[in-house]
Amino acid sequence: MPLCPCQVSPSLAFLTTPVTYSDCCQPYHDGIDRVDGAKANDAERLMRTRYSAFVLLKVGYIVATTVPAQQDLLDVDAIESWAKETDWAGLDIIQHTPNLGKRHAQVEFKAFYTTSEGTQAHHELSTFVRITDKSASENKERWYFLDPTVAMTMSQKQPCICGSGEKFKRCCGVYI
Ligand code: ZN
Ligand code: ZN
Repeated sequence: MPLCPCQVSPSLAFLTTPVTYSDCCQPYHDGIDRVDGAKANDAERLMRTRYSAFVLLKVGYIVATTVPAQQDLLDVDAIESWAKETDWAGLDIIQHTPNLGKRHAQVEFKAFYTTSEGTQAHHELSTFVRITDKSASENKERWYFLDPTVAMTMSQKQPCICGSGEKFKRCCGVYI
């Protein structure tokens, strides 16, 4: 069984407990369209499943785990060709801040990739927001990625894109 892409870490010489894809990110990828599918219960888990989705070209998962108000604004073709052209080499989670205010979290990570000049890293700090689906009877909360590269054409006084009811500038606008 292949290792899950998110479990490959260039900074670790070996893993004590290898985790296969089917025991790690696959249930999240396979369940994204199902109400009863596996859901990331924190931002680090979502970050890992998104990294694996980039490696395995599961662009639908990347879109579905971005905050809903941004999904239609994503350049899916660009995401797909970037993911395809990148020679992924592993992931290091550097720091997970699970609670940032009422509904945000941040994950600092390095996503490694190989070029002709050797292994390089995207070193990023990503922000995630927890959204409550008021129409759902159970499984109400879900974490989403807030994409800072998506240009949001909205006034700072509008209600936030995450549906929290707060003003954008006091909520997700702090992070994007
Ligand atoms: Zn994984
Ligand atoms: Zn918000």
